[in-house]
This record gives sequence, C-alpha cells and structure tokens, in this order.
Amino acid sequence: MKKYNFNAGPSKLPAEVMEAVSKACIDFEGTGIGLMEMSHRAKNFQPVIDEATALFKELLNIPKGYSVLFLGGGASMQFCMVPFNFLEKKAAYLNTGVWAKKAMNEAKLFGETVEVASSADKSFNYIPKNFTIPGDADYFHITSNNTIYGTEIREDIDSPVPLVADMSSDIFSRPVDVSKYVLIYGGAQKNLSMAGVTFVIVKDDALGKVSRRIPGMLDYRSHVQAGSMYNTPPTVPIYCALQTLKWIKKEGGVVEMQRRAQEKANLLYGEIERNKCFVPTITDASDRSLMNVCFVMAPEYKNQEADFLNFATEKGMVGIKGHRSVGGFRASIYNAVTVDDVKALVSTMQEFEKTH
Ligand SMILES: *Cc1c(COP(=O)(O)O)cnc(C)c1O
Repeated sequence: MKKYNFNAGPSKLPAEVMEAVSKACIDFEGTGIGLMEMSHRAKNFQPVIDEATALFKELLNIPKGYSVLFLGGGASMQFCMVPFNFLEKKAAYLNTGVWAKKAMNEAKLFGETVEVASSADKSFNYIPKNFTIPGDADYFHITSNNTIYGTEIREDIDSPVPLVADMSSDIFSRPVDVSKYVLIYGGAQKNLSMAGVTFVIVKDDALGKVSRRIPGMLDYRSHVQAGSMYNTPPTVPIYCALQTLKWIKKEGGVVEMQRRAQEKANLLYGEIERNKCFVPTITDASDRSLMNVCFVMAPEYKNQEADFLNFATEKGMVGIKGHRSVGGFRASIYNAVTVDDVKALVSTMQEFEKTH
C-alpha cells in the first residue's frame, strides 16, 4: 500500500534524492568504490562539499562574509557551541518550546542568560509578541520553527543585538534574509537531508570575540578554516544534502518551496477548521507553522483519538501521532511532502468525519 510520510524528523525526502544516495553508497559515480567506504579527502569527494556549499549559498542568497559549515553533533551540539563562541557576559533567549529551552539551558553554563519572553503559560501554543531584547546582550537566540508545537516565526525579525536562529525544521522553506543573522543552524534531518549532519551559516567577522578558550572541535573558526574538514565530516549525509539542494533548485528554489508550503498548509489547516471532528492547537493563524501542523480531536470526539489514528494508519498515513509531550496529531509537511500527500490526509479526515 502507498504510504504517506508525515514524519517530524528524520522525515520524507524526494524519491530521486534517496535513489541517488543509494546508488552512490554502493558505487560512487562509477569509481567502483562506495561513498561509505571512500576517504573524505579523496579528490572526488571535495567537489561534493564544494558544490553543496555553493548551492547552499546560492539558494539562500547568502551574502559575502558568511561561511557555510557541515558538522556533526546535531542541532543539540549547537545549543552549546553558540554560547561557547558568542557569550561573553549575557545572552537573550526567546522561549518558544522544548528546543528553545534546551538551547537556553546550555547558555546558562557560560554566562548570564535572560529569557526575554516565553509562551510556556499556554503550552507554547503561540509566539510571544512585544518583547524587549536587552541592548547589552551578546546575542539574541530564537527558534524559528517549533517542530513539536507547530508554531513558527515566519519572517526575519529585527534585533538590536546579533541574531542567532535554530532553523532546524524550516530551513529552505522560504527565502531568508541571512544578513539579519550572525548565525543560523539546524539539524539536517527535517528538511534537508538524512540524520547525521548539521548545517551552520556563520558571519565570519562575528567570530573570535569571546575571551574564553574554546576546544578545537567546538570552535567555529576551526571548521571555517578547514572547510568543514577539521575532522571527518559525515560524508553520506552531506552527499544527501547536496542531492536535496539540487532538487530544490530544479523545482524552483526557496520561493517555490514557500509557495508550496503555503498551499499545503492552507489545505490542511482549512480542513482541520472545517471538519467537526478536529480542532487546531494553534488558534492565531499568523503563528501557525507551515511545516508542522498540529491538531487534536474536537471535545465531542475526544474519546475517538485512537480510532482516528488507526483509521489513518489503515489509509497509509505515517507519522501523524503528535509529539509525546503534546498529544493529538502532528502532520509534518516539509518540502518533500507533496500537495497530493496532503490531499490524501485531508480525504482521510473527511472520510472519518462521514463515518463517525
Ligand atoms: C529536531 C530539532 C532539534 C534537535 O536536533 P538534533 O539534530 O536531534 O540535535 C533542535 N531544534 C529544533 C527546532 C528541532 O526541530
């Protein structure tokens, strides 16, 4: 049976990306050697990382003076690398959920950490507004898309201090004005690649400003100088990211990804609002994520949550169970998820409504 993959991460990748990666793993570009068993210093791997970096910069229109890095350690490693490299006295954080909080907690190990605003009072179901960012903070950290709760900061905000963003789950879903940030990072396994690689976009001249000593592996400058080859980089995930970047370019770039994201999100939120069995968890439409669509059963249908999950599973829907901390349902509709995939979920919801 056809499966519709709404996994939150690792998540759906375009079929042609998976085919290209599978082939390369076994025989890399006709060399007779598999990508998995090849040196990262081999002369035919260097073009992979070079092309991935160049496409990354091209697709996001990254200005001069920024480096793109492919690292290990996940987005979670960035939670400590950011304060290690940027926090001299004080850092400011916007608390919009589990990941934002984890990032903030790591910063506390390095200096004063200010929670500028939080949406914890309402289970993180909105984006705080009208907060004041302290002008003396070394940086302000945001999580642009809250994967677990389904809220998103969909534009590039103005910050009086250097802006840092965790864009793990919305990178390449819209154009980004990179010049507004000193650093953007994310785990690639949501919208870019398989698990195992973390991307970092960093403004070169923002580095080297803290007085503490930084271990080589945790110092962005080591990785910038070595072109992401300070140690052995995750070669297969980087190759996978390259295939996705090529696919994004071929499909029309981030402007087209944004158009599709809007179309898919409109379809799904529209159905959640129309269907008497369901309600959205995020009520303010402007705070809703275009990537992770969260919903629960309407109060009269509360006891049918397991029924809907079974019904949807029988129809081929995969990964729609909400995060364990939120419950209900979450459909992640990243770039590789098609309008037809979303229509299949919408039909399933309509059928459930008719028969229950
Ligand atoms: C998934 C996720 C993370 C954690 O990523 P890891 O690569 O598992 O460390 C961090 N932030 C956000 C917004 C995420 O969605």
